[in-house]
Amino acid sequence: MGNKSEDKAVFDTDSANQMVNKLRASFVAGKTKSYEWRVSQLIAMLNMMEESEPQIVSALRDDLSKPELESSIYEIAMLKNSCKLALKEMKHWIKPENAKTSLTTFPSSAEIVSEPLGVVLVISAWNYPFLLSLDPMVGAIAAGNAIVLKPSELAPASSSLLAKLVARYLDGSCIKVVEGAVPQTSALLEQKWDKIFYTGNGRVARIVMAAAAKHLTPVVLELGGKSPVIVDSGIDLKVATRRIIAGKWGCNNGQACISPDYVITTKDYAVKLVDSFKCELEQFYGKNPLESKDLSRIVNPNHFDRLSKLLEEDKVSSKIAHGGQKDETNLKIAPTILLDVPINSLIMKEEIFGPLLPIIMVDKLEESFDVINSCGAKPLAAYLFTNNNKLKEEFVAEVSAGGLVVNDTTVHLAEHNLPFGGVGESGMGSYHGKFSFDAFSHKKAVLYKGFSGDSSLRYPPYTRGKLRLLQALLSGSILRIIRALLGW
Ligand code: NAD
Repeated sequence: MGNKSEDKAVFDTDSANQMVNKLRASFVAGKTKSYEWRVSQLIAMLNMMEESEPQIVSALRDDLSKPELESSIYEIAMLKNSCKLALKEMKHWIKPENAKTSLTTFPSSAEIVSEPLGVVLVISAWNYPFLLSLDPMVGAIAAGNAIVLKPSELAPASSSLLAKLVARYLDGSCIKVVEGAVPQTSALLEQKWDKIFYTGNGRVARIVMAAAAKHLTPVVLELGGKSPVIVDSGIDLKVATRRIIAGKWGCNNGQACISPDYVITTKDYAVKLVDSFKCELEQFYGKNPLESKDLSRIVNPNHFDRLSKLLEEDKVSSKIAHGGQKDETNLKIAPTILLDVPINSLIMKEEIFGPLLPIIMVDKLEESFDVINSCGAKPLAAYLFTNNNKLKEEFVAEVSAGGLVVNDTTVHLAEHNLPFGGVGESGMGSYHGKFSFDAFSHKKAVLYKGFSGDSSLRYPPYTRGKLRLLQALLSGSILRIIRALLGW
């Protein structure tokens, strides 16, 4: 008898192909298209989250030492809200939308019909393993698709629990989970999908997009980047500091795609800001933050080493203004502030994705826009703290990012009326609320005509008069139409 790992069937291209074929058969049979099926799956997902909260919290503790409050709110409650919103609004979302028609097609009526795309692949990341896996699925289910989910192997307890829960609660003939790393994802990427929704880094996004191109499969890419925070003077510094801390260390210890990556402020204000950080950080996480239960750990030794290297670079290590403590055994790094970090340091070249926060100093705050834009890559989010309306306007006009927030951080993610997604290097496409439904739907244009009013204008023999009248009709100018009809 072989051992357990030998007994486990290998998931290869053939297995992936068989799985997709079965799901496609369910889709073609119309199973996922009915309103009732969509409702039943969303209710099942809601129940799954409600009934499994303790296991989910425990898996997130195993994978990331994620504090219970963060798991309950950012992974479970937010997902439940998504399900509830889809259940409440889906009737409106799936309704064909009336469209106006013009003189060109007169007499006619038109509508836009949202139809499911087919069989879709969701590949998710490790930092919010439940939310990033299941939230796109809410949109895919609401839109009536069959789904394969590939969770991240870097959060193994969450991946394994997701596989078990999805198999137990959701319809296995239409929704599957494939666990695994590069070989399994590669086998999945060889298949023809009707959409691939990928969350993760830009390097793998390029692999995903190249694989999708072979089948002309559309993609949504939810990526990351260096999300800046501009801090003006003359603000409520305490509130601003607390909101930056909540978005940075209060979001998985900085391992979140929209966590503040670096701060820009004026030379005059920087010391005040650092003092405020020191004071609030100590209130939140105590004198020894490495022992705080309210901070996630770093996901694995590779990421711990990566972050350590950023901190150890010569031109950076001397800039630590607060924190810097590390505990390699428990993969913990304390909230760390670095003041006056050179722009050409490693920490300013890549997304930090961890508990280090450099502060860049400028003479005038308006220079911040150049600092952000000179990075070359458009960030996933950008934040500004100010009371100055002119600065707010300039910020909105001049900074291109997936999303902007004025006087807070990360909260735009929780607003389901706003699209969530990146631009350029931070991604393409968006989701949340109705945008999720739209991401997994094809907007089918439908034009209805009757048999009356069949003008001979577009039929041969083509004449000069017909040409003039058609041109006038297409121009939409009543005067030209009258002149063409009168032969003037
Ligand atoms: P990760 O390592 O979990 O990778 C993401 C997925 O890609 C996993 O499912 C993994 O199995 C798969 N993958 C890895 N290598 C692959 C390969 N060679 N071929 C095919 N698939 C492969 O996550 P990560 O990339 O470390 O995630 C962190 C990044 O994701 C950061 O840049 C972060 O900003 C971004 N992110 C973005 C969002 C968002 O919503 N925009 C959310 C979370 C994370």
